[in-house]
Amino acid sequence: MPIATVNPATGQTLKTYDAMSAEQVDAAIGRADLAYRQLRDTTVEQRGRWLTAAADLLEAERDETARLMTTEMGKTYAAAQAEVTKCATACRFYAAKAAEFLADEPADAKAVQAARAFVRYQPIGPVLAVMPWNFPLWQVMRFAAPALMAGNTGLLKHASNVPQTALLLEDLFRRAGFPEGAFTALLVGSEAVDTILSDPRVRAATLTGSERAGRSIAQIAGRELKKTVLELGGSDPFVVMPSADLDRAADVATTARCQNNGQSCIAAKRFIVHTDVFDAFAERFAARMSALKVGDPMDDATDVGPLASEGGRDEIDAQVRDAVDRGATVLCGGEKPAGEGWYYPPTVVTDLTPEMRMWTEEVFGPVAGLFRVSSYEEAIEVANGTSFGLGSNAWTRDPREQERFAVDLDAGNVFVNGMTTSFPDLPFGGVKNSGYGRELSALGMREFCNIKTVWVGGEGGSTASAGAHAE
Ligand code: NAP
Repeated sequence: MPIATVNPATGQTLKTYDAMSAEQVDAAIGRADLAYRQLRDTTVEQRGRWLTAAADLLEAERDETARLMTTEMGKTYAAAQAEVTKCATACRFYAAKAAEFLADEPADAKAVQAARAFVRYQPIGPVLAVMPWNFPLWQVMRFAAPALMAGNTGLLKHASNVPQTALLLEDLFRRAGFPEGAFTALLVGSEAVDTILSDPRVRAATLTGSERAGRSIAQIAGRELKKTVLELGGSDPFVVMPSADLDRAADVATTARCQNNGQSCIAAKRFIVHTDVFDAFAERFAARMSALKVGDPMDDATDVGPLASEGGRDEIDAQVRDAVDRGATVLCGGEKPAGEGWYYPPTVVTDLTPEMRMWTEEVFGPVAGLFRVSSYEEAIEVANGTSFGLGSNAWTRDPREQERFAVDLDAGNVFVNGMTTSFPDLPFGGVKNSGYGRELSALGMREFCNIKTVWVGGEGGSTASAGAHAE
């Protein structure tokens, strides 16, 4: 893939970059390693001041940053502005909370025959972050803010279509005061990842992206015995039961499917509706989806901008064509428009069957699959019936059903009467082929920490011999 900014609204190539040479990458890893040695000796308070400065810069430069993201990947300008603000909030959250999240945790000294014993959270070193284009600032920030606060350094291999956002992030952390090399954008293609992750100075990797990329990175990391966090794709269920508030559910379903032009890992993608309310919900949902305005992402009136790439649009069009050819019904949308820009209309497809691609595959665009079920049990069976397990949504006003959904949905999160989103305060991640590990909250910060056990004996030496066994 060329490393280039190509405006999805016009298809025009605006800027291209040469990939960094092996020598340049090697030097960047060296700087990240050196910066790690500096950063781990700074105080949490100092790192917090730098991260707060990054938040200040983000807020001050919100509109230029948002415009750049819209130009590189086509999200609406309003959504891009909100993304910048969310990143600033996450920086402030980790700046404020890191001391608490990284504090020593005392153990029961007597139980381990110590004078004192505790768990200490320490940084591990340079971490490689392989990131996607769909939330080009936020996906990076939710790794970078906790990692830098913990005293790690970051090497960013961003998606090849958002090079300017990658460079903006490097510049942001430098201007905020972090040492040279603490956060570096590596302008390289995905073929360079093997060499980078194999470098002994690189201690771990985090990837947000497709299942295919996840498998590739996990293989390299397995060979090299390095820790990974993988945030992969999803085909989130959105279950609507008879007691649901249908108007509200249809409103939220529309946003949940079409946010970010339909290109979100946690977008609701499969709408699983109880037969008692199927027709009423389908009518409301299709009406709302068709009312969305598709167009120029810089225009305030636009709800849905273009897909980020021509290939991405061709893929969803092929998934819809496959369903239609096998007998599915299109309730709205479903036709790839002619003309400039990689637009695709909000689409609802029903009468889906298991042999159709839309039944099992992730659909990464504003296309909803609508499934009819006749019981709670069948809803769970369809909801859990894919290889993914990222987010999930259930709509019901029955408290007993709410509890059951929280237990039975096989996913990294369950949002009841709402749509999946991410908050700095709550862990985020998936199960099954949606990946492993968690981002955000204290758990996300500790993924890239050495969770060190410290045991201190009494003055005369170890007191542990009586109770301890050789491991
Ligand atoms: P992608 O092709 O996997 O790209 C993501 C990143 O991985 C890019 O930097 C890409 O580099 C790199 N990459 C691709 N193949 C690789 C390989 N074999 N080895 C190493 N690196 C590789 O994903 P995408 O299609 O752009 O993004 C959409 C996917 O990301 C969807 O499946 C979506 O659900 C998922 N996603 C998940 C989350 C989450 O939190 N779980 C969030 C957002 C998106 P190049 O650009 O150079 O190819």
